[in-house]
Amino acid sequence: MKIYKSYKFRMYPNKEQEELINKTIGSCRFIYNYFLDKKVSNAYSGIKLIPELSKEKTFLKEVDSCALRNSVFNLEDAYKRYYKNLGGFPKFKIRGIHNSYKTNNIKSTYKGKYNNSIKLNLKNKTITLPKLKEVLIRGYRNKKNFNVVIKSAVIRKGANKYYVSVLTEEDIIIQPFKPNRIVGIDLEIKELLVTSHNEKIKNTIKFNEKRLKGLQSGLSRCKSGSKNRYKIKLKIQRLFMKIKNARKFLLHTITNKLIKENDIIAVENLDVKSMRQNHYIAKCLTENPIAEIIRVLNYKTNWNNKKLIEVDRYYPSSQLCSVCSYQNKYVKNLSIRTWQCPQCGHIHDRDLNAAINIMLEGLKIYIKTCEREIMTP
Ligand SMILES: [Zn+2]
Repeated sequence: MKIYKSYKFRMYPNKEQEELINKTIGSCRFIYNYFLDKKVSNAYSGIKLIPELSKEKTFLKEVDSCALRNSVFNLEDAYKRYYKNLGGFPKFKIRGIHNSYKTNNIKSTYKGKYNNSIKLNLKNKTITLPKLKEVLIRGYRNKKNFNVVIKSAVIRKGANKYYVSVLTEEDIIIQPFKPNRIVGIDLEIKELLVTSHNEKIKNTIKFNEKRLKGLQSGLSRCKSGSKNRYKIKLKIQRLFMKIKNARKFLLHTITNKLIKENDIIAVENLDVKSMRQNHYIAKCLTENPIAEIIRVLNYKTNWNNKKLIEVDRYYPSSQLCSVCSYQNKYVKNLSIRTWQCPQCGHIHDRDLNAAINIMLEGLKIYIKTCEREIMTP
């Protein structure tokens, strides 16, 4: 089975490289906006026009041509989404918001030697990119080499820092699935998660709203275009980025641990959309941590030959007694953290009990699918 993974590195370009990256980002934005203005929705007819356009706009000749072509494809995708009613009419790209470009790995042969336009060297900590040549990178300290095929790379600028995400393709052999350990997870926004093994993982990342408000009011006092305004803007961007990175790190640590220790992971199929509308977290951070955990678990279970089972969201995981299955409707009240089962007398911690029930229901679903597989010849 072929799987696609992306690896993100911080880049440390020198002055010239930095200039060229900025120029490429700008040129891609120019191409996108130019063809949007000319209402060119077909990528191939757009690409055909680039050489003629380059005679007039000579800066286009200096940058990676593959990145320019990708910009035209992006525009075509935006049009396609619009025609399929999946998105609004394509908008012009704005400087400062759309700060990235994509380039593909192009293989060629020269004098009998194979060459790739994108090369990753983890030993020397460099990435070779079209036009930029070798750029210093940092990240994945523990990886010695990549035994993968590079498909493409996205170069991104954020808060005056540079990053590259490398998309790779890998062939993996799938072994027969032999589950030994199962875990149920109760996901909560405040607690983050509780497992049926009674592990509690808290959402330790705090968003410093006070600082954000302070910076924002400082921003409104600055004159537009002033140096101070630029400095404060950068500080706000860094604040968001810091949170984003910390959350990503926590997310991957948790999911890696769950995948490593278990074969089947059962979660509640939550109504993420309505949660996003309701909760205060949506206010400052657009991504929902619960939806993110499920999304990451979904692809990591696929990569590692494990299974993710989603339990119906209407299954009353917190109301059922995990010992005798008595349903206690009184527990619907979210403020009840511990309760005693009126039937068997067992005292339950609300979240742990829910996690155990999700695990039991997940196991039931798994056994049912196995039975179905045996029954169908
Ligand atoms: Zn009971």
